[in-house]
Amino acid sequence: MTNASLDQLVSLCKRRGFVYPGSEIYGGLANTWDYGPLGVELKNNIKQLWWKEFVRKRTDMVGLDAAILMNPKAWEASGHVGNFADPLVDCKACKQRFRGDKLIEEKLGVEAAAILKLEQVEPMLTAEKITCPNCGKLDWAPAKKFNLMFKTQQGVIEGEGTDIYLRPETAQGIFVNFKNVAMTSRMRLPFGVAQIGKAFRNEITPGNFTFRTREFEQMEIEYFFDPEATPWEGIFETWKKDTWSFLTETLGIKAENLRFRDHEKDELSHYSKGTTDVEYKFPWGWGELCAAAAYRTDFDLTQHQTFSGEDMQYSDPDDQTRKIIPHVMEPSFGADRITLAVMLDAYDEESLGGARDDSGKEDTRTVMHFAAKVAPMKIAILPLSKKEHLVAKSKEIHAMLVEQLDANVDFDVTGSIGKRYRRQDEIGTPKCVTVDFGTLGEDPAQGETDTVTVRDRDTQQQVRMKISELAEYLRV
Ligand code: ATP
Repeated sequence: MTNASLDQLVSLCKRRGFVYPGSEIYGGLANTWDYGPLGVELKNNIKQLWWKEFVRKRTDMVGLDAAILMNPKAWEASGHVGNFADPLVDCKACKQRFRGDKLIEEKLGVEAAAILKLEQVEPMLTAEKITCPNCGKLDWAPAKKFNLMFKTQQGVIEGEGTDIYLRPETAQGIFVNFKNVAMTSRMRLPFGVAQIGKAFRNEITPGNFTFRTREFEQMEIEYFFDPEATPWEGIFETWKKDTWSFLTETLGIKAENLRFRDHEKDELSHYSKGTTDVEYKFPWGWGELCAAAAYRTDFDLTQHQTFSGEDMQYSDPDDQTRKIIPHVMEPSFGADRITLAVMLDAYDEESLGGARDDSGKEDTRTVMHFAAKVAPMKIAILPLSKKEHLVAKSKEIHAMLVEQLDANVDFDVTGSIGKRYRRQDEIGTPKCVTVDFGTLGEDPAQGETDTVTVRDRDTQQQVRMKISELAEYLRV
């Protein structure tokens, strides 16, 4: 297996319609990306599998879809107005701006950067001789705090509206609805609320394709519990295990490309008792993929109780005299970052056993080894020729499979069959179904009537089977 370089992946994404640069016809808008026909299917599959694993399959979880715009007081309560800032450093020579902690992280590792105080950033850059990535000079101004929230205005007349924020995380929408959910869904502790939605951060140094962007999608869970009844350590371990199995078993990401990273004591927020990220081996090194579990104690609900004046306590149904503010465990996933990792992990360039192409070069194929559940197209129907009656029969099979499997089934009549197989390999379609004149009963040499050839993406092996058996064979 080869690991893809970022350039190889970006080029495949553009070529095949996974991800395009945003606003491209206007020269683009830096670090914005649009998901194309295949990208949207892939990302939707990942989001749906996440929802299935963490909401539908469980009796202790429910869903939510809160508004992006929230009362600005919510962001004061959460600490985002005061503290949601990164250390920005200016290069005095070329005036470019960077995230000081990330420059240090690249040279000295994530642990060193994570525990730095603001006033230590510039001295550390200078002491370690970390030069400006743009102009190569070593001339940093002292680091400043830069708030990452996007501010906008609500109201029709410019200047007269209220300042509001685009949410920098989905989590707070869950906290402010805690009472609503607890009362209307009749859930008992421990229970969790899950949400998928857009978040916005005015990142100082976005980049590495969709890894760090200013608009992205999160899949977050707040799992509420009574720490006296259920100690946090057990819940923490369970979420670590469930996150790991979602990434490896459900999405098929290779375990050797993943690792846990526990936050250092100094790195934890003052209210947090433990946080573990999962990191992925990206082409530029290990980077955070998601937070498997962050134990946030009762900090968030207590803050919202204080700032809103609303009682956020939960009454124990078995003992009405006992009221508590539940504690919370937060697993937090980035849908775009996970989609990127799934693509990088699936990418491969394989030699075709010494075969040569027309120019004499060794023949290779690019193949995306997506897990079948994740693949944007599950099946491709390929009529051997464009003959009308063969295409008609192929369309019948296409309609039958869509109906019976409720899956995305591609249909491709253009080019030689070999080229079409390559195209499907490149987009990661697990199975191709070739319809030929044998299928129609016109050429017994190609196969029996009402049979088709099914080709496997990974092994490239072909089997002949009855049309009536196809749906069961291809179900994922
Ligand atoms: P980082 O250290 O990379 O900035 P973070 O620790 O600030 O990330 P969290 O606040 O824990 O990130 O957000 C949870 C998840 O949301 C991350 O693990 C990541 O998958 C995703 N995420 C956060 N920021 C971005 C971003 N700017 N672009 C894309 N995904 C993001």
